[in-house]
Amino acid sequence: MDEKTFKLDMVAPDRIVYKGRVRSFSSPGELGAFQVLYNHAPLLSSLVVGEIKFTDEDGSTKYYATSGGFVEVRENRVLALLDAAERADEIDIDRARESKKRALDRIKSRASDLDMARAKRSLERANNRLKVAQRTTETATVS
Ligand code: ATP
Repeated sequence: MDEKTFKLDMVAPDRIVYKGRVRSFSSPGELGAFQVLYNHAPLLSSLVVGEIKFTDEDGSTKYYATSGGFVEVRENRVLALLDAAERADEIDIDRARESKKRALDRIKSRASDLDMARAKRSLERANNRLKVAQRTTETATVS
C-alpha cells in the first residue's frame, strides 16, 4: 500500500463513532474548516457545529454532522472528541425537522423565559443535520 494514511479516532460521549486509518480528514474548526493529511503538524483545535469529512483507506469519503468538540493531531493520529456526531445516513431527518420547528417556535414566541442563544444553537444543530443528511444521496470516491 503506497497511499499515506494516518489513524483516526472519533469518539462521542456514548460511543466510538469511527476508528480506522484514513487518507484525509476535515473538520469545522473554530477558526474555520481545516484539513489534515499525512504528516500534519501537531494541532489542537476546538470545533463548532458543522460537517466532518474523511476519506478512508479504500478511497471512500464519509460525512458526519457534529455539534462541536475538540480535535488533537499528533504523530499521524487524529483524536476527535465530539459532543455529538452522526454519519450522514444515520441522521433522523424527521427528528431534525421537529427540533428545527421547536427552535423556530421558541424564537418566535418571545416568551419571557426564552433563552435566545440556546434556541439559536439548537436551530443551528438541526439545520446542520438536515444539510449533512443530504450527503447520503451523493457518492464520492477517490482512486
Ligand atoms: P434534539 O432536539 O432532536 O434532541 P439536539 O440537537 O438537542 O436535538 P443533541 O443534544 O445534539 O440533540 O444530541 C443528543 C443525542 O442524540 C446525540 O447522541 C446525537 O448524536 C443524537 N441525535 C440528535 N439529533 C439526531 C438526529 N436528527 N438523528 C440522529 N441522531 C441524533
